[in-house]
Amino acid sequence: MAVERIDTDRCIGCELCFKTCYADVYRMDREKKKAVVKYPEECVLCCWCIALCPVDAIVFTETKTVPPMTSWG
Ligand code: SF4
Ligand code: SF4
Repeated sequence: MAVERIDTDRCIGCELCFKTCYADVYRMDREKKKAVVKYPEECVLCCWCIALCPVDAIVFTETKTVPPMTSWG
């Protein structure tokens, strides 16, 4: 599973996903007031953005995979 795109018909531009994602996946389109999945390859599948989005606008796929997180310790 991985975050794939934003359903722009649903997104209300609240910025919760953008402010919450510590993996820097999102950017805000300030003109359209919508979130954009800018760096999907950075997603570590914590699912915070999906849980917080108030309108279920975050589209994710169950087939796409990402490399596992690497510990630097
Ligand atoms: S699942 Fe986690 S890492 Fe992936 S985009 Fe959402 S908040 Fe960022
Ligand atoms: S949390 Fe949902 S509604 Fe808010 S900006 Fe992100 S995708 Fe849009």
